[in-house]
Amino acid sequence: NTAMDCCRTSRRLGGKDVKVVVRSPQKDMKASDWEIEDAIREDIPIYENHVPAEFVVENGKLTGMKFEKVTAEYDENGKRSLVPTGEDLVFMEADEVIIAIGQDNAFPWIERDIGMEFGDWDMPVVDKVTFQSSIKKVFFGGDAAFGPENIITAVAHGHQAAVSIDKFCHDADVTERLAPMTNLVSQKMGFHEWTYDAHIDHTDRRLVPHVDKDTALNNLKLEVEKGFDTNLGYEEAMRCLNCDVQTVFSESLCIECDACVDVCPTECINFTEPEEEEADLRQKLLVAATNWEQDIYVSDTLKTKRVMVKDENVCLHCGLCAERCPTSAWDMQKYLYNVTKAGKVA
Ligand code: SF4
Ligand code: SF4
Repeated sequence: NTAMDCCRTSRRLGGKDVKVVVRSPQKDMKASDWEIEDAIREDIPIYENHVPAEFVVENGKLTGMKFEKVTAEYDENGKRSLVPTGEDLVFMEADEVIIAIGQDNAFPWIERDIGMEFGDWDMPVVDKVTFQSSIKKVFFGGDAAFGPENIITAVAHGHQAAVSIDKFCHDADVTERLAPMTNLVSQKMGFHEWTYDAHIDHTDRRLVPHVDKDTALNNLKLEVEKGFDTNLGYEEAMRCLNCDVQTVFSESLCIECDACVDVCPTECINFTEPEEEEADLRQKLLVAATNWEQDIYVSDTLKTKRVMVKDENVCLHCGLCAERCPTSAWDMQKYLYNVTKAGKVA
């Protein structure tokens, strides 16, 4: 997001005509989508596929930059090449040019003769489970271990590295880890009552209110996003799909009455003959399950030799199947997951 910080700050410092010129297509930019949207909202156009060619200086003064137009081509591995279009260089007038290249991990401070192994991008080689480097008493976590991620990931790394360090200091095997604790607990309170709010809210995601553009551009320190007030925050929270509450199916209880199929608002429950190939099974569902990134749930064979197949991708966790089922073959159960943390055992 360095480029977005630079351009938006330039507007706040009085820049009237601020542009962002990017080598890649806009969709490949590393900046977050919402940062790009906010920049465009502040009248900052994005020029994609323009590779810097030269600064233009006249009489000792910068007058602008020339750019080579390119198109992005991707090979079968998704590796991108920026191929010149052959058009004339594009000149853009400018009295200031900010090169926004961000930051990178760098380890010049680690001597290369101490036995530490370095791999891709000149990053230390770190074990993904133990966070131990090739020097057994040195541990890495966060961006320094595997490149840029978020703070939540860095904290999780810290916990796991701390567990490793504790084991290392006690001469224990750092690769031996406690399995995560997982648990499913029924949320049923009555026929139509659940411990969670199963109601489905069909409204669109609430947008975070912003201060108006002129006010924002006149104050460098003013936070643009105002955040949700209590009411808006409550409304947004009510859109939660309760993904932590799972639909759990018990083959032995199912009498194959198909009542759950009728009631499911997204038609994601199916009773059908099994197929050898998953692709065939996905295709013949009431609504074809086309998202291969999401597994489908296939039960054991039932009494009629059919299987229950559920497309998890479109389940709303509304609980209607479990309310309708006469034998409690469906239940809504809250999933808990806990891992060992520093100073605490799961
Ligand atoms: S929880 Fe709702 S959407 Fe999901 S399978 Fe049951 S009825 Fe369908
Ligand atoms: S409603 Fe219950 S018993 Fe009937 S088909 Fe669905 S899971 Fe089986």
